[in-house]
Amino acid sequence: MSRVYNFSAGPAVLPEEVLKEAAAEMLDYNGTGMSVMEMSHRSKAYQEIIDTAEADLRELMDIPDNYKVLFLQGGASLQFAMIPMNLMKHGEADYIVTGQWAKKAYQEAQKYGKANKIASSEDKTFSYIPDVSDLPISENADYVYICENNTIYGTKYKELPDTKGKLLVSDVSSCFLSEPVDVTKYGVIYGGVQKNIGPAGVVIVIIREDLITDDVLEGTPTMLKYKTHADAGSLYNTPPAYGIYICGKVFKWLKRKGGLAAMKEYNEKKAKILYDFLDESRLFKGTVEKKDRSLMNVPFVTGDKELDAKFVKESQAAGFENLKGHRTVGGMRASIYNAMPIEGVEALVAFMKKFEEENL
Ligand SMILES: *Cc1c(COP(=O)(O)O)cnc(C)c1O
Repeated sequence: MSRVYNFSAGPAVLPEEVLKEAAAEMLDYNGTGMSVMEMSHRSKAYQEIIDTAEADLRELMDIPDNYKVLFLQGGASLQFAMIPMNLMKHGEADYIVTGQWAKKAYQEAQKYGKANKIASSEDKTFSYIPDVSDLPISENADYVYICENNTIYGTKYKELPDTKGKLLVSDVSSCFLSEPVDVTKYGVIYGGVQKNIGPAGVVIVIIREDLITDDVLEGTPTMLKYKTHADAGSLYNTPPAYGIYICGKVFKWLKRKGGLAAMKEYNEKKAKILYDFLDESRLFKGTVEKKDRSLMNVPFVTGDKELDAKFVKESQAAGFENLKGHRTVGGMRASIYNAMPIEGVEALVAFMKKFEEENL
């Protein structure tokens, strides 16, 4: 068996310890004589799995009691619709467009009400986060929407926007559990887990209790009401049961690692190795404004498309997978989520140095 260094933006690398544990429990989970995949979601064993996962997530993120944790399906993209359907009580919301995912959310919201684009960084291919300290927040907006870490472009909010008292809704798919957060600053925090937590198919929604009501957009399907899932403890219908089990194992792994403060420190250390190299390199350069750099997704280019393609090809042959950048940015992107070991980043930088010497 040989494992590569997987720099995929998602689905992405998971902790080896977690994969090994899951493998060991594949045929017989904890004396049940069956795999978690084969288990009733109404069984005692499964109830314990989902309860423990929620409790561990609450501990990791210090989630206050007046927030619900929901394990849902449909990926982050279904939230682009669920959020306006459930939260646009006055039919209006403000969107800050900092990348493709924020733009998709903004476009989807237009189907359900008046979505206002109050700031954008599209003028420079989303290579920065706009100034969000004094935005023209709409008087009737039910919420202000952001995508906190822009997976494709490699930017991250370092300060949350001043929403002038409006509810903040944040897509944290690609920075979930990468550093501590103050949950009380948000109405809703949500993310697909396949970037930083677990297998695709699960989306976690952390939502303030008072926002969960029956007062939703007319015609909202039962399955798309937060209240349906909140009332049923995420077990209204069959949940993505195996995925939640793996998420639970990742939460335990994060706790063993020292929690989110320790993760932040580790992630900063990893990202610094790569960014420091990009800043001194004569061949490679980062594509993002330094102040807005993400700790999780690091896009870079050589400035020459053919050389970029050569790099991607040679890096793959050397055991570095998925370094090709998103088609809208070109070049390369290294996603260095929680589970990417520091040795992977060090090895990548060593490979980039060698490539630079050979190609300058
Ligand atoms: C990947 C991603 C999405 C889309 O996730 P799906 O689960 O595929 O719908 C949305 N937002 C962000 C920030 C992402 O990185």
